[in-house]
Amino acid sequence: MTTLTNTATLDSINPATGEVVGSVPLTPVGAIPGIVAKARAASKAWGAMTAKERADILRPAGQVLMDRSEELGKLLSREQGKPFADGIGEVQGCGYRLSDEVDEIAEAVRPQVLKGEGVETTVYHDPYGVCAAITPWNFPILMPHWMVLPALVAGNAVVLKPSEETPLIAQAYADVLNEFLPEGVLQVVHGREQGPALVKADVDLIAFTGSKATGQAIMREAANGLKRVILELGSKDPLLVLEGADLDKAAAFAARNSFRNCGQVCVSTERIYVDRKLHKPFLEKLVEQAKSFTVGACDEDGAVIGPMIHGRQKAHVIGQIKDAEAKGANVVFGNETREGCFISPTVLDGVTHAMDIMTTETFGPVACVMAVDSVDEAVELANDTEYGLGAVVFGEESLARDVARRMTAGMIGVNRGIGGAPGTPWVGARQSGIGYHGGPMGHRQFCQVRAVSVVAGGGDS
Ligand code: NAD
Repeated sequence: MTTLTNTATLDSINPATGEVVGSVPLTPVGAIPGIVAKARAASKAWGAMTAKERADILRPAGQVLMDRSEELGKLLSREQGKPFADGIGEVQGCGYRLSDEVDEIAEAVRPQVLKGEGVETTVYHDPYGVCAAITPWNFPILMPHWMVLPALVAGNAVVLKPSEETPLIAQAYADVLNEFLPEGVLQVVHGREQGPALVKADVDLIAFTGSKATGQAIMREAANGLKRVILELGSKDPLLVLEGADLDKAAAFAARNSFRNCGQVCVSTERIYVDRKLHKPFLEKLVEQAKSFTVGACDEDGAVIGPMIHGRQKAHVIGQIKDAEAKGANVVFGNETREGCFISPTVLDGVTHAMDIMTTETFGPVACVMAVDSVDEAVELANDTEYGLGAVVFGEESLARDVARRMTAGMIGVNRGIGGAPGTPWVGARQSGIGYHGGPMGHRQFCQVRAVSVVAGGGDS
């Protein structure tokens, strides 16, 4: 949670305590065109290097992130709220594989030679020039990392606009990379209005992760200059628990994926459809699991989940729970009040699609359970959403695989969570986004393709 103390400073506030964690200079909106011009100037020499050279320059940053993971992870936790272990884990998640990642990105954007019918074509992946990276607060170092690193290795200069809720860790991440980068290749702008101003400025590509509404606003504005966009947006992910499911595993997954990061995850389980025959035992096991998700501040012993990011988010989640109760849902666990931005893990049973909590993204620690009478009904309800990021199916293997093919989502887990083998892109279907995170397809989004064709055997152009 942040407050603007004056026109010059953006304070970052611990959502558990209300204390100021630190502050950053607020970027004057009028300065943004100049910052983008500086990025464009820096992009010339940076883009002229090979991807391998850029990868080599960035490689040592991984070790710095690992060496400083405790300090940076605690900073992340203080401004975002998640327990220290999760904050440290998130920093390590960026540092640990950075060295491999830069090589994977460089490999993905390497020129490819195609031959046939007397023609030899070289497909180049050129940098666009200047990339705006606009990121949310829920994974406040991982989200910048997922966009900034491929944009840089692909040869772009980057202007990062992190969430105004979590400016400190994003700035710290950029500072680590800037220990190795040439001046101007990676810059950071801070504030809220600075987002739209950056989109309007002379950038070539906007890589965005955040809400659907902001994604739509960015796309509208980007249309003016036909700027490229990558949009990773929200969702309303379903979990289906069908005949033959291992109920212990399904309930453990349901609890973990509904409550982790206090439900503030784009692929959180937001809706659970369970075969009516399994409904009672599944619900009991889910409640049992929910009891282990102790709420507390990031430095509190035993805290498994932290607070909501700010009071508005808490009010939104409580409003959805109240609406569901008013329309007939039962609170079977949780929904206890605690001072500040905290919400205890809550299990709702008897929900329906007439309730806002089953149609609008919640982004809070609520598991919503609905009994269904057939596989077809489960599939129909699961797909009854404008979103389509992830979906998870637990059930007898062949049934679950069959149902997975019927899900209108980008990433589907069968008897496990989503998250693929190395190289699998992170991808949303429908209104959960346009484009990918990661994988060769994701890395190439940061490039303009240029195909040069010559007569085969006639030499390169
Ligand atoms: P948000 O859309 O409110 O803000 C995200 C970023 O956009 C912030 O930096 C914000 O300052 C900036 N912004 C706001 N309005 C803007 C505008 N008009 N133009 C340009 N920039 C603007 O989202 P949030 O509350 O920070 O994050 C939560 C959302 O992010 C959820 O919907 C969640 O599902 C989504 N998310 C998606 C993924 C994914 O991979 N699909 C991952 C993480 C989070």
